[in-house]
Amino acid sequence: MIQQTLVLLKPDAVKRGLIGEIIKRFERVGLKIVACKLVKPSKDLADKHYPLERQEFVEGIGKKTLENYKEMGVDPVSEIGSSDPYEIGKIVRGWLVEMITSDPVLAIVLEGPNAVEIVRKLVGHTLPVKADPGTIRGDFSFDSAFFANAKKRPIKNLIHASGNPEEAEYEISLWFTKDEIHNYKRSEEEVMY
Ligand code: UDP
Ligand code: MG
Repeated sequence: MIQQTLVLLKPDAVKRGLIGEIIKRFERVGLKIVACKLVKPSKDLADKHYPLERQEFVEGIGKKTLENYKEMGVDPVSEIGSSDPYEIGKIVRGWLVEMITSDPVLAIVLEGPNAVEIVRKLVGHTLPVKADPGTIRGDFSFDSAFFANAKKRPIKNLIHASGNPEEAEYEISLWFTKDEIHNYKRSEEEVMY
């Protein structure tokens, strides 16, 4: 039942000085930081983190772009040159890899009961324009696919969080060695567990 999940504070969060603001939210909900480091990822690490081979992941990005275009009444072909979710996903993924390798990110492993789901809830919708107030993306960004793509960059949504327990396991092993992950008790565990 106790899970671990990977969080990355992306370059936009680090460069806007939002590290403390964001980490505070995970700490106050009761999640435990078991690993943490500032990294400027290599191209290889970024490629593995955003795997081009995972068709449904790449297509998922394209689908979110298309949904956003539809809602905003934008024609995908004239805007980004394609209406195919995989093709659009590939373009956006390329921008993502470029962004995440250009500046440091803060990589964190959080631990707690249902950590994966709890973190996703606190993070909010992928597109900040659709993220609820009170969530990290909803409180600190207004970005949308349309606005971002017009500038040929990925959506600046501040944070990455593993989407499910399998993704979490894979991503944690990518970013951290076993001896970088710590085991300790937080004082409130006596009350909250
Ligand atoms: N992304 C984007 N445009 C989109 C959809 C996604 O730039 O239309 C970027 C965004 O930075 C997002 C990342 O691609 O965080 C990974 O997408 P995913 O579908 O995994 O969303 P997440 O799990 O981050 O909410
Ligand atoms: Mg994801």
